[in-house]
Amino acid sequence: MKNKNILALVFALFAALTGWSCSRGKQKPNVILIVIDTVRKDHLSCYGYNRQTMPRIDDFAKDAVRFDDAIAASPWTLPSIASILTGLYPHNHQAGYAGKDPKTNQEGLTYLSQGAITLTEVLFQNQYQTVGIFQSPFMDPGLGLNRGFEVYNWEPGDNMQTRSASEVSDLAMEWLDKTRNKSQPFFLVLHYFDPHLAYAPPPDLALPFTLKYQGKMKPPFNPSEPELEKIQKGQIKFSKEDQSFIEGLYNGELNYVDFAIGRFFDYLKFANLYDQSLIILTSDHGEEFWDHNSFEHGHSLYQELLQVPLIVRLPGGENKGLVIKERVSQVDIAGSVLACLRIESLLRPNGKSFISMPGAVVKPMASRAIIAELNRIGDPLQALYRNEYKLILNRTTAKIQVYNLAVDPQEKNNLFGKKEAFPPEMVDQFKGVAAGIAKQESEKKPLPAKLDPNTIQKLKALGYLK
Ligand SMILES: [Zn+2]
Repeated sequence: MKNKNILALVFALFAALTGWSCSRGKQKPNVILIVIDTVRKDHLSCYGYNRQTMPRIDDFAKDAVRFDDAIAASPWTLPSIASILTGLYPHNHQAGYAGKDPKTNQEGLTYLSQGAITLTEVLFQNQYQTVGIFQSPFMDPGLGLNRGFEVYNWEPGDNMQTRSASEVSDLAMEWLDKTRNKSQPFFLVLHYFDPHLAYAPPPDLALPFTLKYQGKMKPPFNPSEPELEKIQKGQIKFSKEDQSFIEGLYNGELNYVDFAIGRFFDYLKFANLYDQSLIILTSDHGEEFWDHNSFEHGHSLYQELLQVPLIVRLPGGENKGLVIKERVSQVDIAGSVLACLRIESLLRPNGKSFISMPGAVVKPMASRAIIAELNRIGDPLQALYRNEYKLILNRTTAKIQVYNLAVDPQEKNNLFGKKEAFPPEMVDQFKGVAAGIAKQESEKKPLPAKLDPNTIQKLKALGYLK
């Protein structure tokens, strides 16, 4: 039955692809990449959530292609955004490992490998105007993700004081309206940060999600780094009611970003840019609300941190309403954009394009192995997805977990040690993948990035540097 479904999808895609208009017309389509920080997929009603957190994005999903199983390459900002922009897994692009400066002995974060080509660089070389509007210390230009951007509008900020979603939309609209050269296509990347801690939504937007709360907590929810660590370890506990209040504030942040993105979409339609652009909306990683007895992100490779929304509107709205059930990865995005634009380049992604040129077939991807990595915080972890199975390896303790996502999507029943329950060759395959990654890591020894002192201070406050 499953194979039949995949086959039907392939034929549907094949039929539909002849209509895809990624690269027709004289000027190449504009590309708009929207990365909303910290959005777990199952908190959007277009993905089945029982609360309407993001109504404008629900509408956008109906008008676009929705990917139901998109996996982040990492559970935290820097390596994930680097994977989106390079099409490479973290062990290949190298951004976000710990590294000590040999001269100063200062602990730091490694920057994007010089050998990694970014989508931005390729588009810039292909006469695209390239503009990025980013926030957070992880996007410090010293970390290399600014490569290829003509305009890199970065605001370091911190959890409480960061550029709001409204400001990001305003900056984007201002650039589109006043600065861009209308005879050239553009690549615009918008990084919205609001759903990341602190949760401080406008009170009226949070209200529908916190209305029933009778407890003592008050917004904003902004734990300090030592507090956050205690919450993650279960040393600071919250009642179920307090937990749902905290989650309600997060939902309020989603609602606020949705409003700002809706305004941006309205502008795109008004300026006649919506229909002729390739628009990709996704997140860098999810957020945990005690699904596995912890909180926030960056500490595990469970689904609540790795499953992200991915919604792609092709130019002309081709295939709108299509839902892709097959698993895809963030490392598929860069190659897909280039395939859509029919641009040949030296970018060699680890992923596979989910957009095909007209007339070509998108191959079923269900059996493909997809990986995710955590290299920075706590014990290093690796995850391997294969069909319905997911294997997680702790590289320090060598502890293995195996889950059957088809029957256990919340990863509560570890099958490891129950040999009959999953294909045993999967462990050998995974050990091979892990050994390959370890070899590549040992061959590349990047040094920490030269960061703004202000960024270093903020990374320390966030617990990413000691
Ligand atoms: Zn993030």
